[in-house]
Amino acid sequence: MQYKYRSLIVAATLLCACTQDAGKDDSYDPAHDYFSFARTDQFITDHLALDLRVDFEMRELRGSVSLDMRRLEPEAKEIVLDTRDLSVSNAQVELPDGSFVPAEFRFGEQDDVMGTPLIVSLPATADVASEFRLVIDYATSPRSTALQWLPAELTAGSEQPMMFSQSQAIHARSWVPLQDTPAVRVTYEAVIQTPPELLAVMSASNELPVVRDGEYSFDMPQPIPAYLLAIAVGNFYFAPLGETTGVYTEPELLDASVYEFADTQAMLEQAESLFGPYEWGRYDLLVLPPSFPYGGMENPRLSFITPSLLAGDRSLVSVIAHELAHSWSGNLVTNATWRDGWLNEGMTSYLESRLMEVIYDKDRVDEERVLGYRELLLDFESVPPAMQALAPRLDKGDPDDFQGTIHYHKGQLFLQYLENAFGRDAFDEFLGAYFDEFAFRTITTERFLDYLDEKLLQAEGSAVTRAEAEQWLYKPGLPDDAPIPYSLSLDAAEAVATAWAEGKIDAGEIPIATWSPQATVHFINSLPADLAADRLSELDQVLGLSDTRNAEIGRTWFIQVAKRRHTAAYEMLEQHLNRYGRGRLIYPVYLALAENGADRELAQTMFESARSAYHPLIDAGIARALKESEQ
Ligand SMILES: [Zn+2]
Repeated sequence: MQYKYRSLIVAATLLCACTQDAGKDDSYDPAHDYFSFARTDQFITDHLALDLRVDFEMRELRGSVSLDMRRLEPEAKEIVLDTRDLSVSNAQVELPDGSFVPAEFRFGEQDDVMGTPLIVSLPATADVASEFRLVIDYATSPRSTALQWLPAELTAGSEQPMMFSQSQAIHARSWVPLQDTPAVRVTYEAVIQTPPELLAVMSASNELPVVRDGEYSFDMPQPIPAYLLAIAVGNFYFAPLGETTGVYTEPELLDASVYEFADTQAMLEQAESLFGPYEWGRYDLLVLPPSFPYGGMENPRLSFITPSLLAGDRSLVSVIAHELAHSWSGNLVTNATWRDGWLNEGMTSYLESRLMEVIYDKDRVDEERVLGYRELLLDFESVPPAMQALAPRLDKGDPDDFQGTIHYHKGQLFLQYLENAFGRDAFDEFLGAYFDEFAFRTITTERFLDYLDEKLLQAEGSAVTRAEAEQWLYKPGLPDDAPIPYSLSLDAAEAVATAWAEGKIDAGEIPIATWSPQATVHFINSLPADLAADRLSELDQVLGLSDTRNAEIGRTWFIQVAKRRHTAAYEMLEQHLNRYGRGRLIYPVYLALAENGADRELAQTMFESARSAYHPLIDAGIARALKESEQ
């Protein structure tokens, strides 16, 4: 993913969950997934077959899932699946001779974060089978946390409705009853019925050319974890970007998407030369409406993408590099639990920067590294020390928002540190072997550490000890010898901010037209804390910051507008909150407004008028944060 919204509330919600280092409590097992009810020691799923009808009027998916399962423990008789807000009408077991036997089922106790376990008893006649198929008839709820149902007016075309999923971290269970843990990988197939004028796409083979007939079949032959199950239905059209890459979106956004993401094929080819073979066939993008909650989601073969990247100048395409890189780190080699998320996100952030360096240039990547580092320092101010470890103890809370962006940026710095210590060639060789060794498997932090130890740390004259690696993984903050990124162009922008604030230059002399968007972001963030609010007016008049088309500049600017109570720009700030639904772009603006000492009610009012267009995950997150800012 790229990115989660910055979680300023973790300190309050998780302080009591993490007062010890990972692994030091007798009952805590770092390899255990504390966010799934599934008993994967007893049963394991190998394959799913979905047969679903998409009903926009009822806002539900209705149909069945068949789970091909294996029994690992001969005495086990009850299968536990994860669900949330699903209604189940029938369960049966298919015997090897093709006959069906009804299976008794019941729901267990509901949990606010984890949902409700569905417990299915294996019928006595099925007892002998160590492999069997479980078929469940079910329907989703309009409250499904994974699915957003958009009325036509919230799409670019305004004529057809749309629906899309976001399964990470633990939301697949709100549209399919299954073992919802990254520790289990399944292949899948699906038949999806939709209104005939709409197109369904999934994280699977999407047939080209597209024939719109309201019935679509999919096949995903590579095993994936549940959080990569994905579906979208809407008025989508396709345009190729290259031989094996392309983009799906509404016709209104197709030309802009083709222009913005023109480098995708080149990125894919470079990624293969850097990280090894791309194992997934095609790589396509799906550009969704503004309410898509993240920058992108690495659904295999078909990354889901926010339209806020359509800046018109390809300045925000590092998100595409990020989602593509997940084809190796995350989708091919997967974190075993959400606590090991740095293996997905830190590794991907590192690969993203390597890709961007080849496709664009090192100066641009250095700028993004510095911006990421600054966000990491901000996270350290709000995340409690025990949660600042790359692999913290994690058995409570919500895996969607426990650690800010520490997995991303600290993870990236750790891998940069290893690259610096062992040299790029040796580290690339290590990464290639790592992706090869663990392909289509899941991995814990501890297994990674052992592998790193064996391949690099134990080598004669190794520049890094195991204890130094452990400090990155299990301790708060950054080690003293962390590689701090720097950028000459951002340093220059910072110097201009200081010179202007001190009155040494006029606003008209700020060379913003020659800067990258990243330099403009850094300039805004470098304005001194004691700058008078009316001086922001002066900047805005000369530089037109409130009118920016660039979502990242807008985000940065309106955080400052809210923090410093530059009220003349509040109308534009509200437009920003209505234009975007991506958590990263709006969440910190609401919080800055709510916490500036005067505008908490105004933040609430703006939220009430904008929230109907937000994704349920973002809506719930902002509502919770605003409520907590009252206290
Ligand atoms: Zn990611």
